[in-house]
Amino acid sequence: MKTSVLVVGGGLAGTSAALFLAWRGVDVTLVEKHPGSSPHPRAVGFNARVGELLRAVGLEGELPVSRMTKGFGVRRVRAESLVGKKFDETFWTPPAQLSDIEYSPSKGVGVAQDKMEPLLRDKARELGADIRMSTRMLEFAQDDEGVTAIVQGDGEPYEIRAGYLIAADGHRSPVREQLGITRTGRGFMHTSRSVLFRAPLQEYLKDGIGQFVIDGVGFLTTYGDGRWVLMLDDREYTEPELRQKIVQAIGRDDLEIEIITTGRWTISAAVADQFSAGRIFLAGDAAHTLPPSRGGFGANVGIEDAHNLAWKLAAVIGGESRPSLLDTYDAERRPVATLCHQQIFARNDGHNRDGEPEDAPLIDNNAMHFGVLYRSDAVLGAGPELPPAQLPEQWNGQPGTRAPHVWIEPGKSTVDLFQRGWVLVADHPQWEEAAGQAGVQYERVEQLDVFGLSAKGASLVRPDGYVAWRSTDLPDDPTGTLKNAFSSSSAGTR
Ligand SMILES: Cc1cc2nc3c(=O)[nH]c(=O)nc-3n(C[C@H](O)[C@H](O)[C@H](O)COP(=O)(O)OP(=O)(O)OC[C@H]3O[C@@H](n4cnc5c(N)ncnc54)[C@H](O)[C@@H]3O)c2cc1C
Repeated sequence: MKTSVLVVGGGLAGTSAALFLAWRGVDVTLVEKHPGSSPHPRAVGFNARVGELLRAVGLEGELPVSRMTKGFGVRRVRAESLVGKKFDETFWTPPAQLSDIEYSPSKGVGVAQDKMEPLLRDKARELGADIRMSTRMLEFAQDDEGVTAIVQGDGEPYEIRAGYLIAADGHRSPVREQLGITRTGRGFMHTSRSVLFRAPLQEYLKDGIGQFVIDGVGFLTTYGDGRWVLMLDDREYTEPELRQKIVQAIGRDDLEIEIITTGRWTISAAVADQFSAGRIFLAGDAAHTLPPSRGGFGANVGIEDAHNLAWKLAAVIGGESRPSLLDTYDAERRPVATLCHQQIFARNDGHNRDGEPEDAPLIDNNAMHFGVLYRSDAVLGAGPELPPAQLPEQWNGQPGTRAPHVWIEPGKSTVDLFQRGWVLVADHPQWEEAAGQAGVQYERVEQLDVFGLSAKGASLVRPDGYVAWRSTDLPDDPTGTLKNAFSSSSAGTR
């Protein structure tokens, strides 16, 4: 069988890739070796930037809003037990600079990964993605025209021929290993045991604290739906021992506790030294394994990889952009992963299990979520002198950063304008004329100051909502200037 893009791996990164590609009308097939999602949820919080991406594909209404406290992330405390004495409070992520600025039309999403994956999968299928569960990729090879994979479901192995392959096959990524792509980072840190259980403990969540470092026991947190997870040191536990640990962590022995499952997982940190090789792209944990304990970047960054890649593949497959556009995936997403790696170790994990925080400048959460800078050939005017991330109001519409949010009418944000295609933002008839000539959508926005523009300026925004280029004033030849900027940043074929 033939497909434009084959995605290997049906975790959050792979499923998001299939979803975003299908939403853009790309013919996509996904293979996942397991029949469904792991019963052990991992990620439980998705930031508001991911909320924006899901809002664009029509999923926002189906997702519960994050429990994170505004500006502070999840609150975490050291405690004797859940019901017992509480000691010092540390933050999962450093307190963001509290201000009245609203950065996004979306709130974060608070849903456990084992519920999130099926939601994304169903939506991807609804949009036309061919998702094949219980199907494993056995081998692959690429040539100048495409990638050939041998996969196997219930029956005999068969061949899939694809134009491109996205390896979202997890932190061990057999695809990455076969390609010989090395990784850089802290590496293996430790192994943890965890037990997932259900217990009626909702009353202990009223003060907004959602994570508990329990002295002498381990780390206790909740998925917000009645399920709790207790992380313990790595050794074998009998069921009575697990129950005893749970009771000790809660500090009550009179509750009904249902053990759902147990898990064993390793914490490690590493970023691939290349995010692509020919027609194959790494996404999610295959590209970067980022420990969840300090910042919760892992899955969020993976979903954003998929989003960055999807519009570029759609443009190249659709013939609007030259294949060189795909080189900007590594140029844009690898520095973000490396920055996340640095920021994870600059943050406190609450109990310094993996050593003291590193001495790197702490970057505000809102800057990490809404203010990372892309420097690549798909951006004009983002020089090496600029910092890797800042708050949106500090960027003020800088090319290479996410176009800022401002409400243009009740319920409609500027962010909602920038998801499908290339958009020129301005408020001037000559720019409107230029946009028509250049073949980009024109959007009249009055609040040009948040884009760093005068009343005669214009910003060109990419299909992923990042500013590609801007002209702060009206040039002599707006049409020619815009056409050049568009052709250059989109690697345009027209
Ligand atoms: C305890 C814990 C808590 C976490 N909390 C958070 C959090 O709060 N926020 C956050 O953002 N992140 C968190 N993370 C990290 C997050 O879970 C991961 O970043 C995310 O799951 C990675 O998704 P992925 O799709 O890249 O990889 P995976 O979920 O590992 O998916 C890879 C998939 O590829 C499949 N596969 C592999 N090889 C093949 C093959 N040959 N053929 C077919 N299928 C194949 C596998 O079966 C697997 O389903 C947490 C992680 C852990 C362990």
